Amino acid sequence: MRTIVLASGNPGKLREFRELLAPLGYAIVPQGDLGILEVAEPHDTFVENALVKARHAAELSGLPALADDSGICVRALGGEPGVHSARFAGEPRSDNRNNAKLVRLLAGVADRAAHYYAVIVLVRHAHDPEPLIAQGRWHGEVIDEPRGSGGFGYDPHFLVPALGRTAAELAPDEKNAISHRGQALRRLIELIREDG
Ligand code: IMP
Repeated sequence: MRTIVLASGNPGKLREFRELLAPLGYAIVPQGDLGILEVAEPHDTFVENALVKARHAAELSGLPALADDSGICVRALGGEPGVHSARFAGEPRSDNRNNAKLVRLLAGVADRAAHYYAVIVLVRHAHDPEPLIAQGRWHGEVIDEPRGSGGFGYDPHFLVPALGRTAAELAPDEKNAISHRGQALRRLIELIREDG
């Protein structure tokens, strides 16, 4: 088994990465287990933020490192909240307040198009000049009334028009099969296989 450090403390992400990478011979260790703390994510692009997190974890652990970054981009808001999705309504981060702010900003707005975006980065070491970078995009529409109890974050307000259901009304497997993060994870697996 080769060990990769995950630059996240999110148990859901840890489980997903473990399930997908174990068959390829990789053991995933969360950075917290190595005493590595989260870094700031100050950049305007998802990929830069993911790279900062991965490099930091690789630097401090001496191991290859994985990091992801994601968010929801709303067309009528010029792509916001985007990289600010987690703390859209400020500190402390709250899904309920984020969703309330989103619905409030879209009051009276006809264009409800939005997409989730995710990027996953793997650096072989802290100064890796050729990081593996995989991304995914999932298109939908923002609705005012929340529906469903699955998922997290903006999912109860994210309608998938082709299914007539929100992301929070999908079973975890259904969501992973089409979501931004699922797409990025599958692409990352391809990149790792190509990388040898
Ligand atoms: P991070 O990638 O863990 O920094 O999360 C970014 C933020 O984007 C989350 O806190 C959520 O608000 C939002 N987000 C990203 N992916 C999803 C998703 O699959 N469902 C709902 N919200 C998401």
